[in-house]
Amino acid sequence: MPSPHPLKQLQSETQLIFELSRPGRTGFQATATPASLPHVKLPSTLTRKTAPRLPEVAENTAVRHYTNLSVRNHHIDRDFYPLGSCTMKYNPKVNDELAAHPGFAAISPKQSEASSQGAMELMYELSSALIEITGMDHITLQPAAGAQGEQTALLMFRAYHEKCFGKPRKAVIIPDSAHGTNPASIVNAGYEVIQLPSADDGMVDVGALKNVLNEDIAALMITNPNTLGLFEKKILEINDLVHQAGGLVYMDGANLNALLGIARPGDMGFDACHMNLHKTFSTPHGGGGPGSGPVAVKKKLEPFLPTPVLVVLNNKFHWEWNRPDSIGNVHSFYGNFGIHVRALAYILSMGSEGMRGIAENSIINANYLRVMLADCYQIQQNVPCMHEVIISGSRQKARGIRTHDIAKRLLDYGVHPPTVYFPLIVPECMMIEPTESESRETLDDFVDIMKTIDKEVDEHPDELLSAPHLTPVRRLDEASAARTLDIRYYK
Ligand SMILES: *Cc1c(COP(=O)(O)O)cnc(C)c1O
Repeated sequence: MPSPHPLKQLQSETQLIFELSRPGRTGFQATATPASLPHVKLPSTLTRKTAPRLPEVAENTAVRHYTNLSVRNHHIDRDFYPLGSCTMKYNPKVNDELAAHPGFAAISPKQSEASSQGAMELMYELSSALIEITGMDHITLQPAAGAQGEQTALLMFRAYHEKCFGKPRKAVIIPDSAHGTNPASIVNAGYEVIQLPSADDGMVDVGALKNVLNEDIAALMITNPNTLGLFEKKILEINDLVHQAGGLVYMDGANLNALLGIARPGDMGFDACHMNLHKTFSTPHGGGGPGSGPVAVKKKLEPFLPTPVLVVLNNKFHWEWNRPDSIGNVHSFYGNFGIHVRALAYILSMGSEGMRGIAENSIINANYLRVMLADCYQIQQNVPCMHEVIISGSRQKARGIRTHDIAKRLLDYGVHPPTVYFPLIVPECMMIEPTESESRETLDDFVDIMKTIDKEVDEHPDELLSAPHLTPVRRLDEASAARTLDIRYYK
């Protein structure tokens, strides 16, 4: 029987650093500017008239403050985080360390090509690796997120139809299980959204697809494995059908964990796909920091890639700007370089065997949870899944407890809840992605916790309805917490 997490202790009255402030107390004394540095006189319009209202504390107080804060939230370095779709896997620290190397961290995008050859080579090597992993022909590393990658590709699709057939097409098809960014990107790129109901087995309904395909359809945009964690078995037929109707096919590859080294979007007939380096390729994410969503494409889309394109010219790396059919640049300079460093370091350190191992272990872990949880939880599609498993809290709901309550209770046991109520087509949905980086013991603990919660549904429903009990803040009004967030200390 798992015991509640020792969070209570950690929570113990972390005082706000402003309350610990004592006039005149310091932790760090800036030395006078060394003579070797130029002395710059700021114009008086830029200088402060009064000192900033910063807390005055000793160095150890500041360190303790941040250490305490770091454990008040849930993160992957604290405990299990089986968040479906967003792949909260462990990212080796060595890749962060490499990205912090001064040669990488302090480089400026305004440096000359001659002095940036090393960084350009790194981006070139990463491009080649990602092209190989996806089975595509070309790539842009510019987009800063998955959603931006989607929009970039759709703008290229629009340019392709315009250039090759005289006019862009009107609409893009997505399944009803699509990630929320998909319809948003479609609208942003100037298309209409056509939503396709899934078949009973959770897959694309090929008959329904045939009915909506016509000369207005620019593309089909799908996630594979789909958001139910299932591989689209008819993907070759689906992609053929779209191509025959003159459309293009886009794979939302935000999360490539299940395919690495096993299957490639390019071989399945996709014309473009993005991948989230901040999910699959070792960039910590979740706090809204920088991301990277490169888009890999087939040859026919190459003329439309964002500028500049990285090429090799006379044995030197070179940024090519003069590309008349390009959609233009979608990010300042060349994308988020620090994330490119992490991704290449990760890929090289894993090697091709290691890449395949990631996919195999993420699939095994998800299927282990599927089998172990099937006694207590409804599993709509209880068939072998890929990297994530979708379970439903419908049996618990019939006994008065919603998935929302289960998610909140998990926090008391020190586990981050899975993604809930998505995909929308499964009632009381929990989307669980254990990832490859968790051990058998962690998975077994999670299964015990989930079974304990199922017992609590009958034995202590009030505990569930009022959970969480052991977190620094209790159940929030989520709408106002997101909409009227106030993080100021001084009013
Ligand atoms: C995360 C995700 C996205 C969006 O990626 P962002 O970097 O958050 O914009 C798109 N599709 C799927 C399936 C995802 O999991």
